[in-house]
Parts: sequence; structure tokens; C-alpha cells
Amino acid sequence: MPPETALAVATHCPYCALQCGTELSRRDGEVAVRPAPFPVNAGGLCQKGWTAPALLDTPGRLRAPLLRGADGEFTPVGWDAALDTVAARLKHIRRRYGPDAVAVFGGGGLTNEKAYLLGKFARLALGTSQIDYNGRFCMSSAAAAGTAAFGLDRGLPFPVTDLAGANVILLAGANPAETMPPLMRHLNAARLVVIDPRRTPTAERAALHLRPRPGTDLALALGLFHAAVDENLADHDYLARRTTGFDAAWRLAADTWPERVERITGVPAADQRAAVRLLGEADRAYVLTGRGAEQHSTGVDTVAAYINLALTLGLPGRPGSGYGCLTGQGNGQGGREHGQKADQLPGYRAITDPAARAHVAGVWGVDPDSLPGPGRSAYELLDALGTPGGPRALLVLGSNPIVSAPHAAHVARRLAGLELLVVADFVASETARHADVVLPVTQWAEEEGTMTNLEGRVLRRRRLLDPPPGVRGDLTWLRDLAVRLGEPAERYPAEPRAVFDELRRASAGGRADYSGIDYDRLDAGEALHWPCPAGPPGAPPHPGTPRMFLDRFAHPDGRARLAPVEHREAAEDADGDYPLYATTGRVLAQYQSGAQTRRVPELNDAAPEPFVEIHPDTADRAGVRDGELARVTSARGTMLARVRVTATLRTDTVFLPFHFPGPGRANLVTSTALDPVSRMPAFKVCAVRIDPCPVP
Ligand code: SF4
Repeated sequence: MPPETALAVATHCPYCALQCGTELSRRDGEVAVRPAPFPVNAGGLCQKGWTAPALLDTPGRLRAPLLRGADGEFTPVGWDAALDTVAARLKHIRRRYGPDAVAVFGGGGLTNEKAYLLGKFARLALGTSQIDYNGRFCMSSAAAAGTAAFGLDRGLPFPVTDLAGANVILLAGANPAETMPPLMRHLNAARLVVIDPRRTPTAERAALHLRPRPGTDLALALGLFHAAVDENLADHDYLARRTTGFDAAWRLAADTWPERVERITGVPAADQRAAVRLLGEADRAYVLTGRGAEQHSTGVDTVAAYINLALTLGLPGRPGSGYGCLTGQGNGQGGREHGQKADQLPGYRAITDPAARAHVAGVWGVDPDSLPGPGRSAYELLDALGTPGGPRALLVLGSNPIVSAPHAAHVARRLAGLELLVVADFVASETARHADVVLPVTQWAEEEGTMTNLEGRVLRRRRLLDPPPGVRGDLTWLRDLAVRLGEPAERYPAEPRAVFDELRRASAGGRADYSGIDYDRLDAGEALHWPCPAGPPGAPPHPGTPRMFLDRFAHPDGRARLAPVEHREAAEDADGDYPLYATTGRVLAQYQSGAQTRRVPELNDAAPEPFVEIHPDTADRAGVRDGELARVTSARGTMLARVRVTATLRTDTVFLPFHFPGPGRANLVTSTALDPVSRMPAFKVCAVRIDPCPVP
């Protein structure tokens, strides 16, 4: 165990977007965790939060950079040797192919400071447009739909605790009882309407559970919008005062009446009408969307249709009611605001906006014309690796795409075609094992920084321990590499507080304005939700904005936009060869690609291997039995999984958790169809068949 820098710190869980408050303490060589008095988790933690200290002395911890030799084996080397090698090879690749031949793949778990510095490093030190991050796989459809509707995307534009006052909450494609259990204590008083093809632990608690056929989420959302109007629940006064676009949206949804939607989705028209009556007749109601609504080739339109429903009922911007997206990754919100997205500069600014480029270039001290333009989205970037005209080198931080990207075997082949793969991680993830250079970096309790949770609240991550010898922070090695690439060291502050101060200036005036937030205010315990602009000199500090849109939305005219959305089919449908729908998701004891949670013994015991959930009738037809191995095959490949027979599934649907590596990777079968706007992959539906797996 490394030496401690503090005996106890108030910090936050290293995993999901709820960012539960924790107190970490060290005594007699052991690190202990307990819930901190933090309103979001209100004294609760899930199994992952309780066991997070096990990550700190995980046996597979990397303690020296690794360099792959000509024999294909890794050799531990010093940091100077590793960074000298990386810099020399990057320079060679840039000289030969141009700056866009070097790409960067970031992560939604990186601190705000890392996400910011990574975007700056890519655009200045590498001069590349080719940067995106794994948040593209998670929240980008809701971000696009929310920005179009409200002029600004913040997952929950109200504090999580407001949900406790709701009478009714509609959860579309979200399973918080399993993915973020402490959130449920804020939902206990509400009647839940849950939309999910599976009878999840959240659906078990629902007053009404609607189970659409996978891939028909857009039709169902349009049907609910239609039913709300049909049932005379539209708030026409609100629509006239606070919105535009209702007539165009209604014209396109006029033919998705509930009985037609029943034929498409399988959800009874009476249930659609009951759902909107519950919502529309409640004093305080929320519509919340999750990955189940987003991860489709129709994801943006699906979320837009749910926002249309919420606006028609007059919910957004009404105290005690609203619309929100349940962000998934730990810094999924901050991760998309500070410049690691292909199309964004810090402050959640569009990279194509001349004013945004001028502002950020001014903070960085460079010519705006020297900044690259937008690059490829995450999957498109991975798909282009090693191809003619595509990137020849890739730097990966905080991500494990060999497990988490769709069509994973294809992505692995693309990675293998690179001239240089550099992975920074604290353990040898599956992607790191394919790297040419692995850089050992700090983890959550060894570093300072900030995270932004799903309600837009900026939180302090604090260091309890020094990292083990041989391990460096991402800010430090990015600076050291930038210097080797010819950048001035002073352009890359390695102290998190200094990076945050620069981030504040870069964000000033942007959609996500952090300029009024600083470490001192956060350390004093202020609850600061962005936007939080710095006022003029001498003005009192801005209190932050826990509740947005109460008086106006963020469009110039102050009105929200209903989107003209019409029904279209999913990119992939079941057929004779692949007669079932596979949908992927999370289980309680694992997180994302499992690179962290699979190393925690209690979590691994609870969820040790890949499985496929299947209805008893479907299992009989396929000839597979509970507890045996089965092959799940799509047009892209085959994965192996242990059969779990359960009546919680529709007979046309199977469920695959995506946390596992090797032949049990759910993403061996998933689809590469992308939403045309957000470029998010359609993880939530692909056509498969199930076969028994002969025992060798
Ligand atoms: Fe951590 Fe999320 Fe569990 Fe809270 S709900 S303890 S943030 S994983």
C-alpha cells in the first residue's frame, strides 16, 4: 500500500454519474469508505461504491511504463524512455502522413481537468482534429436532442433531490434500481411508468410497465405524444407562452395514433393512454430518458419525441416537474463540455463557431486559424484506424474500446493495423494489452480534480494517497509529451487547480460556463451547478444554477423547440436467419467494460461471467438450457454466454450484459449502425440467433 497523504478525505465514488459522496479514510494500512452527508446519495452507496477501495491495491496495478519489443513482449522502462519513444514515433507518423494521422480517444470518467487538457493537447501539441471519446457511446443522443430543444444540454436541469417531490415519473430506457441504486430513494414517493423491453428491477417497482419490441422506441414515444394530445392533456397555454414548433411536430406525429403504435411496438394502446393520463394529471411529473431511449439509429429522434411529450404536458421549466437525461458515466456530463469531443471546444462550444474558436484560441495564446476543425465521431474514428487516409497512431485515455465499442472484433483488427497504440491506464485493460506503449497512471483516490455529476453540479475529487512509485498523473505525462513534441511547458499546467482556472476562462461565456466556480468555493462546501458565470469585479459571486429554464429556455427567444420527428424503422430488424432481438446493458455489480470492477473480488463473485437472459419459451425453441453455454450470433460475429432462463424477457428478446472480455464480449455481436445526428451506435438492438454450444 502506498504512503498516505491524508488520513481522511471527503470525495466521490469513482464510478457512475450519480457521483455519490463518500468519506475515505486510512487506518492501519487499510482504506475504508462510508457514505458522506451528500444530498444525491443521502447516506446510500451501492455495492460498487462500498467496495471501491479494493481498486487501490489491486494486484494487477501497473507500476512502470511498458514498451513492446520486437519480440512482441512488454518490457518495463522508465518514463523518459517511454515518452521519448512515443514522441519520436508520433513525429515520424505526423511527418509521413500529416497531423490527422494521430488520433486521441478519451473517456467519460476523466476529470474535468483531464478532459480539458486532453482536448488542448490534441489540438495544439498534436494539431489533430481526430479526437473523440467513449461518451459518444453513452449520452450523445440526449445531448443533441436536449441542445436542439432547450438551447443547452445539462443532463438533469434540476437537482436530483427535486425528484423526491414528484407524483409521477416516466423512465424511458433507464434502470436506476440496478445501475445507480441510491437514486431510487428519491423516486420512492412517485408512481413510476417504466418503458423497457425487460422487466428490470426498476420495472418491478413500476405502477405501469410498457414493454416495446426492441428498436421501436421512437414509435412508442411518438404514440405517447399523440395520446397526450388525443386525451386533451396538452397544456396549450404553456405551449403558446414557452415553446415553438408544436404544429409541425403534431403534423408528423398525427399518424402515430396509439392503436397503430400498438401494432408496431406491441404496447397496448390502453397502456399508452394510461401512461400519459398518469403523467398529465399529476401535479408534479418528470420525463427521464436513459440509454435505452438513446442507443439506437433513431436515438436523437426518440429523445426528441420524449421531449415533445414533456413540453406538450408543460413540464420542463415548471418547478417540481421537468425533463432530464440520466447520464451514465462518472463524468459523462463534464466529459462532454471541455473539448474532448470531435465537434466541441471548451465551454460546450461548437468547434465550427468562429466566435468560439476566437475565444478559446485567445485563452490558449494561439491563432484561431491554427485550430483544427471537427473530426470523426468515436466509432467512425475507430473504424478508420490504419486505413488509407485514416489515423496511424492512437492515444487512449480512460477507455477500453476493445470491450466497449460495437463490432468489437472489427475494432480489434483496426487497432492491430496501427503503427502506434499508446494506452494510459492504471491496470492492463484488454485494450492496453494490445498497445505498443502502456503508461501507468493515477486513479481516483490518488489525484485531485473535479467531476460534474448528472445534475450539473461540480464536485471535488480529493487525494487520500500518493500513487505508487513509477505512476504519473495524466496531466503530468501529457505536459511531458507535449514538451517533447515542441510545445512550451507553460502551456500545459500539470496542477489540477491551475488547469481548472484555465478551464474556467476557456468556458467563460460558453454554454457550460464554469467561470464563477473555483476550488476555494467548492472546498468551502458550496453546491455549484453550472452555468455559474464570473460576475464583474466587486460583484457577489454567482450562486450557480441548480434549476434551469424556470423563466426562459436557452435559445435566443427564450422558447423551447418541439422537434418535427416522424416514425422510422430501426436500422436492423430480426429475420429468418437472426430471429431474435439482442439488447445490451449493465448489471448491478459491474461497471462499463469491467476493467475496474472485474478486479474487485466481491463484485466479481456477484457477477463473474457473461450471460444471456432468455425467455423460457424461446430457450425451448432454441434448444438451450438454463446454466449451459450458448452461442449468440449476429451478422457480425458470435459470442459465448451462460444461459439464464427468465420470464422477465419478451419472447422475441435476449439480454446481454456488456462488461465482459474475450469470447463473452456482448459487443462481438452488436451493430455498427449510427444515429445520423449524434453518431451514437445502436447498442440497444441487433438481430441474433441463439444456438446450444456443444461441450468440447
Ligand atoms: Fe458509485 Fe454510482 Fe454506486 Fe453511487 S450509484 S456508489 S456513484 S456506482
